[in-house]
Amino acid sequence: MSDVSMIIDGERRAAPSTFGVVNPATGTVHAEAPDCSREQLDEAFDAAAKAFTDWRKDETARRTALREAATRLAAAADQIGPVLTAEQGKPLKAAKMEPLAASMWLKYFADLEVGREIIQDDARAYAEVVRRPVGVVAAITPWNFPIVLSAWKIGPALLAGNTMVLKPSPFTPRSTLLMGEILAEVLPPGVLNVVSGGDELGKWMTTHPTPRKISFTGSVATGKHIATAAAPDLKRVTLELGGNDAAIILDDADPTAITEKLFRGAFDNNGQVCSAIKRLYVPESLYDDVVDALAARVARVKVGDGMDPTSELGPIQNRPQYDRVSGLVAEALAGGAKAATGGAPIDGPGYFYQPTILTGAAEGTRIVDEEQFGPALPVISYRDLDEVVTRANATMYGLSGSVWSTDPDRAAAIAEQLDCGTAWVNTHVALGPHQPFGGFKWSGLGVENGPWGLAGFTEIQVQYRAKK
Ligand code: NAD
Repeated sequence: MSDVSMIIDGERRAAPSTFGVVNPATGTVHAEAPDCSREQLDEAFDAAAKAFTDWRKDETARRTALREAATRLAAAADQIGPVLTAEQGKPLKAAKMEPLAASMWLKYFADLEVGREIIQDDARAYAEVVRRPVGVVAAITPWNFPIVLSAWKIGPALLAGNTMVLKPSPFTPRSTLLMGEILAEVLPPGVLNVVSGGDELGKWMTTHPTPRKISFTGSVATGKHIATAAAPDLKRVTLELGGNDAAIILDDADPTAITEKLFRGAFDNNGQVCSAIKRLYVPESLYDDVVDALAARVARVKVGDGMDPTSELGPIQNRPQYDRVSGLVAEALAGGAKAATGGAPIDGPGYFYQPTILTGAAEGTRIVDEEQFGPALPVISYRDLDEVVTRANATMYGLSGSVWSTDPDRAAAIAEQLDCGTAWVNTHVALGPHQPFGGFKWSGLGVENGPWGLAGFTEIQVQYRAKK
């Protein structure tokens, strides 16, 4: 039995069966979640379609409901936090931050005003571009930030007048279900339906005839499946996919001054951040200093159960990901790379892994060429600036990147040459609700956040009035 329910048409609903959810700190099933049936998914989409008729009509009511939803989420941080830690692994403090950040996102969209776009007003005609909701949205989220990434979709989709069926990852369904229960108290029935199940449920959603838009955050491989599934029905898609972000340190950088920010950029959430630093390029002249400073910082990290307040990093979120990170590091070490610190799993139950700094790995090694999505960072040396930009861009990923220097203008001139959706100077993973976020190439299609993200949940309509 599951103690958290799906929300369909405003009501708490159990499913015909449940599936086990593992606590990554122990490696064992700690709770159950409903396994949505096909009939229940139909009901959820029917409810969303029915609710759309009224929801689209009253923008003021939508803003009021979103504000109320933001307030409820912030108030529920202590309730959602432990549920998130138990299934995701992240330290409780970080888990409690998710509903707070999600609340901030909902509030931002509740208050977002987009100016009118009058494109013609002359003797011949008056023409204005307006935005119309797309209809029902199918939203699918990953396991690294279940609550925050749901809010990135709920806020703009609902403000634009759409209704939604939301499915969290089967690895972390319970915190999103709890969020659904809380939001059902303030949103009209059918506006936000939350269902849970395996990847198969995601496939049913993307091939279902009702949704007009799929908003997806997850891996590149699944993103490609979704684009394919959406094509026959020409469903709109926004895809927020994986990254292999390069951070480039310039030769005038101060290694000691940037160590903490580099560490956070690479290891926050145990490296399980789409836009984390995944490759660090350092000039030969600074290589040893940067490696020493970073390795010293990383070696101090306390890894442990997220419910232990002294834990700085929790376990890797799930077994396949733990095996993947372990495998990528082992392969790099076997190929001649060295671990300046870490380099192996931590003994005992749970998916704990030593935070790792690798030296001597370069392109051609999988941990450099692919997205590791875990607590292991290759530090790669370079000689020439043009060459390093080419190397940073020589990938099908293009989510974000950063350049680090004591001269921000010099860094910005390099940053603008990076083929990626966000190019930071002297920081990494600085995000906000006002800032469009998305990837070049395989890292995505479309953007989330800001007025640009809102536009992704709309169709453009031209209102044209002839004057003669
Ligand atoms: P995933 O692609 O395995 O799963 C994501 C979601 O898709 C889950 O809910 C899953 O059940 C569902 N799904 C799986 N197969 C499906 C299918 N065929 N059709 C429909 N839905 C399906 O990703 P993950 O392992 O949960 O998340 C990690 C990945 O997400 C990483 O690559 C990371 O970089 C990426 N990510 C991207 C962003 C971004 O904003 N760009 C943010 C966070 C994570």
